[in-house]
Amino acid sequence: QSPAHPHLDALISLDRGHLIHPVAPWRKHEQRGVTMLESGQGAWLKDASGHQLLDAFAGLWCVNIGYGHESVVQAAAEQMRKLPYATGYFHFGSEPAIRLAAKLVEISPASLTRVYLTLGGSEAVDAAIRLITQYFNNTGRPEKKQFISLQRGYHGSSSMGSGLTALPVFHRGFDMPLPNQHYIASPYPYRNPVGSDDAAVIAASVAALRAKVAELGAERVAAFFCEPIQGSGGVIIPPKGWLKAMSDAARELDILFVVDEVITGFGRTGPMFACDAEGVQPDLMTVAKGLTAGYAPMGALLMSEQVYAGIADGAPVGAPIGHGATYSAHPVSAAVALEVLRLYEEGGLLANGQKVASHFAAALEGLREHPLVGDVRHRGLLGALELVSDKSSKQGFDPALGLADRLFDTGYRNGLVFRSFGDHILGFAPALCFSEDEFAVMAERLRKTLDDVL
Ligand code: PLP
Repeated sequence: QSPAHPHLDALISLDRGHLIHPVAPWRKHEQRGVTMLESGQGAWLKDASGHQLLDAFAGLWCVNIGYGHESVVQAAAEQMRKLPYATGYFHFGSEPAIRLAAKLVEISPASLTRVYLTLGGSEAVDAAIRLITQYFNNTGRPEKKQFISLQRGYHGSSSMGSGLTALPVFHRGFDMPLPNQHYIASPYPYRNPVGSDDAAVIAASVAALRAKVAELGAERVAAFFCEPIQGSGGVIIPPKGWLKAMSDAARELDILFVVDEVITGFGRTGPMFACDAEGVQPDLMTVAKGLTAGYAPMGALLMSEQVYAGIADGAPVGAPIGHGATYSAHPVSAAVALEVLRLYEEGGLLANGQKVASHFAAALEGLREHPLVGDVRHRGLLGALELVSDKSSKQGFDPALGLADRLFDTGYRNGLVFRSFGDHILGFAPALCFSEDEFAVMAERLRKTLDDVL
């Protein structure tokens, strides 16, 4: 145990007074005070009071390579020393950004040939919406302006992306969604009105998409956005074959199919991308998180040659396409991403993630009979326990019990970090570097945490 941080109390007080935390309940956070994280190594974190934690959520499902990779630090430092910044404006560029775009095209589904590098996932989704709008305007179909996504979906919190997100807290008080944003039901096997049968869940989603497009008029619908596994909506894992069925339906309906792989990309579900498991060739794809494994901010929007050409060739000759930011294609983030991608492939992390996934599954499955556990779900290194007060009725918990906070605090005391969704879903996204032993520690600490709150 290291000594407590010498300035911890002062920092907690400064945090209370000044720092706004993302998505936090602001006043409640001030009362509670920040838990300051100090350092990390592999799958482990240490907080400012010296408490050791096994991070079963990879930060915010992003630190897929684990903490403390010196080669990533080197890549960032070298690029910063050589050239910390290069604008992409005025036809300038930098080597890491160019190499990264080419690398992303090499490893992503073959349909995707062009890459726009952003600061994160929200900006990638926002760029997708803006550029799809430009695409249909430039290709003579300006009436195609309606967007469809899934209930319980999360696509970031940008001004437009937050409307494709379909979680109430991202809408409440923000006047969202926009009038051209529409939803169909989540393919939620545990709580789907059609039951949990794979074929029935897939058929219901396809029928819902067809019905929504018919209601809006196919000639008015621009695109369907979805996550291959709904992350922030509660780690909702559709049956295998769902993604392909949705992409086939979108094609048939003549709407663009946009896959948001911000969480599922870079080995999270096994293959490099969730699309790969089903041979899905999206029109556009958003990525972030695992792209830099959280070591620097970066996301990307990948698009097909057809979408790229529609925008490029439909714009007035020589006129700029008015979308961009000072930090688009930032060379330091790009250098970090290139090294992180090297670690997935040559560094063996993708293979390790695939190898240890059965231990992750076993750690969660071992809790299926626990009195609080209603559903256990996982694919690759993404999973959840859905807790219920009654297994047969699948009844959740009274929010007044504050179960989510109690679980998080109890887990923390027991040295385990995971995330709760609503009051009753615990989500897990361990780094791809986890070992079999670390999954055993996770299982033991998780069982103790559930027992402690019983
Ligand atoms: N899309 C999905 C599926 C996400 O899970 C997230 C973030 O959690 C985003 C988009 C937004 O990404 P960011 O938080 O990097 O802006």
